[in-house]
Amino acid sequence: MSTKRVAPRAAARGLTPARRAALDILTKANRPVGAYEMIDLLADEKGKRPAPISVYRALGYLLDQGLAHRLASRNAFVVCGHSHEAGEPVIFLICDECGEVSEATCPELTRGLAALTASAGFEPRTRVVEIAGLCGRCAAAPGKDGRGALVE
Ligand SMILES: [Zn+2]
Ligand SMILES: [Zn+2]
Repeated sequence: MSTKRVAPRAAARGLTPARRAALDILTKANRPVGAYEMIDLLADEKGKRPAPISVYRALGYLLDQGLAHRLASRNAFVVCGHSHEAGEPVIFLICDECGEVSEATCPELTRGLAALTASAGFEPRTRVVEIAGLCGRCAAAPGKDGRGALVE
């Protein structure tokens, strides 16, 4: 028997070249990247198109290890913005206007979700909260609040 909790830093040592390449792409992009865009970016970098299955496997590994997260609403992957416990719930604030994504954790939410899932006897596989809206910059930008209010 062994404990299965793997901290992100320790996991980084288990990176194969394919996993490392996928993580590098996400880190450089610093924004959500879809699986097919990932394949294109890897092809640009290596001059050779990787097989989709190997890219999906690499992404799956990064997700399992907490090195990256999947944004369901964008069908895309994003590098983990900061170090936190592998299973800790993360909140993504996703700007509809500029596409900026910021990652946060919240101790109150972590406690609340743990209590909620425990009382439901539910074993969560994902712990990601996605909140869409306007980032601070876009919300403050003058004349940029035309969303849903096209008067002209
Ligand atoms: Zn994270
Ligand atoms: Zn924005």
